[in-house]
Amino acid sequence: MSDITPQPGILDITPYQGGSAHVPGIANAVKLSSNENPFGPSDAAKEAFRKASFSLHRYPPSDHAGLRHAIAAQHGLDPERVICGNGSDEIIAFLCQAYAGPGDEVIHTEHGFGMYRISALANGATPVEVRERERVTDVDAILAACSAATKLVFIANPNNPTGTMIGEGEIARLANGLPDHVLLVLDGAYAEYVEGYDGGAALVEARQNVVMTRTFSKLYGLGGLRIGWGYGPEHVIAVLDRVRGPFNLSSAAQAAAEAAVRDTAWADKCRVDNARWRGWLAEALAEHGVPSDTSLANFILARFANQAEADACDEHLKSQGLIVRRVAGYNLPNCLRITVGDEASCRRVAHAVGQFMATAR
Ligand SMILES: *Cc1c(COP(=O)(O)O)cnc(C)c1O
Repeated sequence: MSDITPQPGILDITPYQGGSAHVPGIANAVKLSSNENPFGPSDAAKEAFRKASFSLHRYPPSDHAGLRHAIAAQHGLDPERVICGNGSDEIIAFLCQAYAGPGDEVIHTEHGFGMYRISALANGATPVEVRERERVTDVDAILAACSAATKLVFIANPNNPTGTMIGEGEIARLANGLPDHVLLVLDGAYAEYVEGYDGGAALVEARQNVVMTRTFSKLYGLGGLRIGWGYGPEHVIAVLDRVRGPFNLSSAAQAAAEAAVRDTAWADKCRVDNARWRGWLAEALAEHGVPSDTSLANFILARFANQAEADACDEHLKSQGLIVRRVAGYNLPNCLRITVGDEASCRRVAHAVGQFMATAR
């Protein structure tokens, strides 16, 4: 035993596990476990990344001005209230660091993204899990769970791993109903996949208690570079900027993201393609007796009869070189989360699930 002990909460963290990328003994397995864009980033982003290799000896801009202005221009936002992070995970971490400590509560939903709990615990705060209604965020349950100790409420909309989302009226009702001392965080990691949805930007504009987080890891296909951003009221951004390290984004990441956000044609193509094959895959699985909720994101949450069946299907998919995600850690033991890949991957998944179900019941 050592007398050297970490801060309270830290040993309660179960470290986050990324989606696996390999199956032992199978070359070229298809990774459908991390909601990555099967087509990768736009050519413009790759070109910007290559160009950045010529100035790797220079420190990156610490104010992210080029990237913030590009984001603001594309989304119709105020660049002064955009903050960039090393992935949106870092914005989530900043929010917990800045607003939640020992004795404070951080609300997330029953099947909410794992980093909310981890970031709360890392700062000594208490994560509070609120039930959902049939895998959909329940505004009334969240409002009922708020107390004097609540500091932050995290909602992913659309949510991961359920793929479901609540409407703008419901989000506004949540923002309106929260006590004055509570900050609402709308995690828009999948907002780009929803035609016509602003991720909550208008609500951020209208209020003082709402922050939006976004990422380049999903639709923009830049998960490997770690780029996310947040948009919030001036008072919140001023706080987050104080805990942010000056060089939290590499120059290559800033350059690639700036090019990516300007390439709306690529983003549109990926959004349309995803919607098409998401619908096709959901229908194909349903025909094999595997239902899923209507997903607004780039994955499907396939529901099986029970955990044994879900696990057995996962094993079969693996044997066919298809890597999907088990989500028992999200209180969904009978489900598998399957990223919408390209056409060939979707067809392979549908075929393999069909094979499995033909023998399973
Ligand atoms: C993938 C994901 C993120 C994290 O994205 P990064 O920007 O890669 O850190 C955040 N929230 C949700 C809900 C996600 O699914």
